[in-house]
Amino acid sequence: MKKTILHTTILAAILVPMLSFASIGDKNKKVSGDKKRKKDDTTQTVSTSIAYDDVDSLLMFPSHDLYGTWDTASCHPNLFEQQFAGDSATVYLLDDWNCGFTMPYTGTITSEFGWRRRRPHYGTDIGLHTGDTVVAAFDGKVRIARFMGGYGNVVIIRHNNGLETVYAHLSKILVQPEEAVVSGMQIGLGGNTGHSYGSHLHFEIRYLGKAIDTEDLVDYQKNELKNSSFVIYKSDFGAKYDLRSIHAHQVVSRSHAAPVSYKSTATGGFVYVKKGDTLDKIARRNHTTIVALCKKNGIKSTKVLKLGQKLRV
Ligand SMILES: [Zn+2]
Repeated sequence: MKKTILHTTILAAILVPMLSFASIGDKNKKVSGDKKRKKDDTTQTVSTSIAYDDVDSLLMFPSHDLYGTWDTASCHPNLFEQQFAGDSATVYLLDDWNCGFTMPYTGTITSEFGWRRRRPHYGTDIGLHTGDTVVAAFDGKVRIARFMGGYGNVVIIRHNNGLETVYAHLSKILVQPEEAVVSGMQIGLGGNTGHSYGSHLHFEIRYLGKAIDTEDLVDYQKNELKNSSFVIYKSDFGAKYDLRSIHAHQVVSRSHAAPVSYKSTATGGFVYVKKGDTLDKIARRNHTTIVALCKKNGIKSTKVLKLGQKLRV
């Protein structure tokens, strides 16, 4: 807390004199914190209301327009309701300011996003050996780098593209909070700390504090991004990505188990392959198995799915 205030105070000290003679005419350019300013008219004002592009890259934290705050205390500040405007948001994963994307660790997935042993699993596990190098996925700034309960030693980085990435169970952390990192830079060594059985990297991608299935963005076969941009639908966070709500529906009643955004068994037993789908994902979403899917559709489990392909479930 102290650190946040100190950080903000330093920013204020630097920014106020700069802005007073720099760009007064631009006052209405991008003032996103109007509403917020009424609520808290103290130190917060500086970080939420000033968004002058030329100053941004030098002094502000990454994606400050989107997040509005830089919280170094909580691992996932819940900013989603407050900050997600509209029904969808396009995340441009790579831009001119970025050094690209690097796989945090190139290995095999040992556990996917979803329900696991009666617990929601908000990341993707990648098997590794303790001591293996783990690197930053995108350019950004380290927000958290310390031991945190179930995560064990964890590094959380905020990126310029609006995402945050989480690297957990590390045996050693090699970066510090506030440190600027570039894609591919070593940030820690893989391990087995926290709630972990066997060495692996627990990798999460989050947007405004909410976890996204990393496999929707990352191709773990090719070890690259699936696309250079990614559209996030607000409804996904109430269905596809909200594991607790999916689980609750499944337990309560199957009749309304299917999230609205999916054409499920309700449409006469057919589904259409969406971006990022695998047989496993389709099977899980429709409460069936890969074997059953293959049987019904006369395909092999290794079948490469086409976007928009119709499958019997
Ligand atoms: Zn995990």
